[in-house]
Amino acid sequence: MKLFEAIIDANHRAVAGDASAGLHPSEYADSLPVIALTCIDPRLNAFFPNVLALPAEQFIWLRNAGNIITSPLSSTMRSLALACAVKGGREIAIIGHTDCQVAKMTASVLLDRFKDLGIDRHKLPSNLSEFFGVFGSERQNLIKACDFVRGSPLIGPKIPVHGLLLDIETGKLEWVVNGYETWANSALPPEPAGGFPELGVLGGFKDFVMGEMKFPHGKIGDSAANIGEGAAPLPPPNPPTALTPPRPVPPPVVPGQSPLPPIQPAAPGRRLKVPLPPPIRPGSNFRRG
Ligand SMILES: [Zn+2]
Repeated sequence: MKLFEAIIDANHRAVAGDASAGLHPSEYADSLPVIALTCIDPRLNAFFPNVLALPAEQFIWLRNAGNIITSPLSSTMRSLALACAVKGGREIAIIGHTDCQVAKMTASVLLDRFKDLGIDRHKLPSNLSEFFGVFGSERQNLIKACDFVRGSPLIGPKIPVHGLLLDIETGKLEWVVNGYETWANSALPPEPAGGFPELGVLGGFKDFVMGEMKFPHGKIGDSAANIGEGAAPLPPPNPPTALTPPRPVPPPVVPGQSPLPPIQPAAPGRRLKVPLPPPIRPGSNFRRG
């Protein structure tokens, strides 16, 4: 059984009430860490990474509004690529969720929201929906995102790309795009003749030439160290003053449960098992995003 087959199986058993459902990450060392792209909806904070039964150190978490990929070379796409190349991510999962407010956003509502923020129409891109990548169907958004990632020249054929839909009421995961199948078939769309054209609504990739991507030395390591892993933060530019004493970061808290205990490394010869939590039902007072 492959990693996400085991994750989905354990998730469905946990949702059905099996308190022993979980995962032995040590059995899937070749598939870890996992890179996940999710929405910014705060209701998701309580779900990850425990809804995947993965330990935090094996979970590289990227987020944007609506878990949208707008092109094979977009900013989020670049982070996914560096999460693989720099942080060693082995599998990618785009994880959408039910009741996503981005899916319910129309161009006219967006205009009203921006107007309320003091931003006039003429300052915004002409095609708002295309620019922000807003979508009407969560499943279609997942399929489109997976197609972009799978077809991106920045992601090699060795990385499976999955699309999952999380039921925000029950915590149940639905496998919308099975990355192992598309990976096995390896039916990547052909690269356009003459390479990828200028991409991005604002023409931001005008100077991007495939094969000549150069990174400034020194900065990449600094920023990559912060890719979704909650690792040591960059040092502050100035020593903290008495008004801003450094505070310890509290452990994550799941609603209705006591704080999770820290995960201890497995002793040699002993498999660590990460249990799945029971279904989580965030209260209606959670802000939606
Ligand atoms: Zn959302």
